Amino acid sequence: MLDRRMLIRAAMAAPLAGALPAWARAATPPADEATMARFIAGLPKAEFHVHLEGTLEAEMKFALAQRNGLKLPYADVEAMKRSYIYHDLPSFLKIYYDGMQVLLTEQDFYDLAFGYLNKAASQNVLYAEMFFDPQEHLKRGVPIGAVIGGITRARGDAAKALGIQSQLILCFMRDLSAESAMEALDAALPFKDKLVGVGLDSDEKGNPPEKFAEHFAKARAAGLHVTMHCDVNQENTLEHIRTALLDLKAERIDHGGNIVQSPELVALAKSLGIPFTVCPTFSGKVMENGQPINALREMLDAGLKVSVNSDDPAYMGSEYITEVLIRAQKDSALTPAELVRIERNAFGTAWIPAQQRDGYLAKLDAYAQTWGAAA
Ligand SMILES: [Zn+2]
Repeated sequence: MLDRRMLIRAAMAAPLAGALPAWARAATPPADEATMARFIAGLPKAEFHVHLEGTLEAEMKFALAQRNGLKLPYADVEAMKRSYIYHDLPSFLKIYYDGMQVLLTEQDFYDLAFGYLNKAASQNVLYAEMFFDPQEHLKRGVPIGAVIGGITRARGDAAKALGIQSQLILCFMRDLSAESAMEALDAALPFKDKLVGVGLDSDEKGNPPEKFAEHFAKARAAGLHVTMHCDVNQENTLEHIRTALLDLKAERIDHGGNIVQSPELVALAKSLGIPFTVCPTFSGKVMENGQPINALREMLDAGLKVSVNSDDPAYMGSEYITEVLIRAQKDSALTPAELVRIERNAFGTAWIPAQQRDGYLAKLDAYAQTWGAAA
């Protein structure tokens, strides 16, 4: 199966072969891993699937706990990191939600967002759309103005100091009640000029996307974009993807890897031009008949608009987008041209004005040309 795909990719690359250096046109990745890592590190990138609370590194948790007079149930950073053991979505979410208890003030959210943007900028991320989970903070009595205010201030400072642009997506937590999500949306709408869209995350089991139909309609009426998680290997996963695309008119799907199991849904997503934010660390392995399928490889080969993202890096071995792409390149045998295509998909589907998009694509094209890896 993989051999056939590689042959097809080799055949597609053939007409350009004369213009490209051997390593860039090869259907298989170059033997020189260091060169590939350098190519990936310098690649102009965009990221759309990163939960800000999932970038809360253990070191920052300890610093914020100290500042806020909280005691953490771990002796040190290493002990905390050793506790990050999960085997499925619910066991991951327990650790993830426990971790955000230290976020209490506007300055905490500033530090969290600036920390991520600083890291992302250092990895040549030019643009990011970041998720946040307001319900979890409202529950702890943190005002929405402090959450959005701190993040917004960090976005402004990061743009000025680091040149990285970003926008913010409010996620509804699907395992909490519909009323709770509506309260969060109503609380956030006065700040809608600080948001670009709404999303849907957390535990999908028993929480289909239609539970939030009213919320998405209200957000859309307020001028916000709509994306939603369709996590991998969930019950009724294909139905959820179908509902998201057809009934809820999602403009983007986060994860969504199981779509490769339905040619009909693949055709639908392609006809609608829907982008998919794949996070290989968490959503790369779709299971079919007890066997893993490489969702990223299959989605790319199916012609879907896939981007690669880091999801919750602080809980996933502190692997940010460059490390995730390096790993994905190996696992999915991505060629340099495919890596450029992934970033072209990302910039091409960002929720930004045309002029900003053209600027990013020009930078990407220039970089690809320098390396002889034009997609
Ligand atoms: Zn996610």
